[in-house]
Amino acid sequence: MTTATTIMRQHLIDPEICIRCNTCEETCPVDAISHDSRNYVVDAAKCKLCYNCISPCPTGAIDSWRNMPAEKAYPLAEQLLWDSLPGQVALDEAAEVGAGDTAAALPDDVERIAAVSTAGQGGVAPPPWSAAHPYVNLYGIHAPAVATVSGNFRLTAEDASSDIRHIVLDFGNASFPVLEGQTIGILAPGLDAHGKPHHVRLYSVASPRDGERPRYNNLSLTVKRVTADHEGNAVSGVASNYLCDLKKGDKVNVVGPYGTSFLMPNHPGSNLLMICTGTGSAPMRAMTERRRRKSAPAEDGKLMLFFGARTAAELPYFGPLTRLPKEFIDINLAFSRVPGQPRQYVQDLIRGRAEDVVRLLKDENTYLYLCGLKGMEKGVDEAFADICSRNGLDWKAVQAGLLQQGRYHVETY
Ligand code: NAP
Repeated sequence: MTTATTIMRQHLIDPEICIRCNTCEETCPVDAISHDSRNYVVDAAKCKLCYNCISPCPTGAIDSWRNMPAEKAYPLAEQLLWDSLPGQVALDEAAEVGAGDTAAALPDDVERIAAVSTAGQGGVAPPPWSAAHPYVNLYGIHAPAVATVSGNFRLTAEDASSDIRHIVLDFGNASFPVLEGQTIGILAPGLDAHGKPHHVRLYSVASPRDGERPRYNNLSLTVKRVTADHEGNAVSGVASNYLCDLKKGDKVNVVGPYGTSFLMPNHPGSNLLMICTGTGSAPMRAMTERRRRKSAPAEDGKLMLFFGARTAAELPYFGPLTRLPKEFIDINLAFSRVPGQPRQYVQDLIRGRAEDVVRLLKDENTYLYLCGLKGMEKGVDEAFADICSRNGLDWKAVQAGLLQQGRYHVETY
């Protein structure tokens, strides 16, 4: 006897590829995605197949599907234990299926997926129209690129509270093309508390596309040694401590590159409005250095930077930054912990430069980048709303336009 059974297209996350960046969980409008210390998982009962999470995922781990009899969908508890995705079950073994159900369910879903990927707007901003083509996912965890450390320099003063390092990785003969704004994944050696290999940690590339040293096959990272979590509890960051302790000549397993959105425009006259805190300065350094090396001031647009750190001694690249000519870049530094001085944040300086910032916002050639601490997003958003309303603009409308046109890019953690 044949029983009609509903076949569902179950949305899953591939634990082998997932880099645990939390983007999918943040994007999901119905809270169907959750995680524990090991895996990110999708609740089949909540997922509405809106596909909003598909496009923002840097690795494609999110784009995993299995056709399942609805009543046999993989429960969360089972997904949380996976080290790899199970294969596709043979449906006629898993359930007695009414032939019409399978035929009706699948083509429609396939079509919906195609529609979403061609729209390319599933929750992630498009790149600037003139951005160069980014290469992504060239190396995965099963076949990482092996880079050699060619430098590891402390950027912060010896007596500063944070140890921030500029780490240069050389790829030798391996092809590892990156653009400013892209990230790479680091595989720290060793095992986690579950006896599994550590998952991938992402870092923004801090050097321009032609290398930390021009025409060398290398790149740089800006890494802060993590010694406490966001609540101030003592923890030892696995990848950051591994990276900060590397010596010249050490080998590092690298995956990626990742990122197709947070990219810089390449057309003449484009302005960069960059806002960052701490090590969120990495992509801003890459973009600024790209512009500096290209150096065709008559053609290039404006560069305006708002950069927040605890003190000057804690600000990565403080020395080189302050030596850049004023006509090349308009630098605004906010220090929050200078003894005897009031706390200053990037959003305070944005308010202070309202007229110039609004002028840039009104220019259709302006591209806005925000990178660093998650907490600054709200403050910066309020500052933009404030200065816009004082100048006859509606920030929400301006922001929506910027997003749609690939002119507003945020990377905060
Ligand atoms: P940090 O030193 O802790 O803070 C930098 C500055 O931001 C300090 O002046 C701090 O002020 C200020 N700040 C704190 N909360 C703020 C808020 N709500 N609004 C505005 N400013 C605020 O920064 P960090 O440890 O370097 O953190 C940088 C972040 O960038 C991390 O979350 C990291 O994951 C992320 N990131 C790193 C990379 C990379 O490649 N390394 C790339 C992208 C993003 P207080 O004195 O009040 O603390």
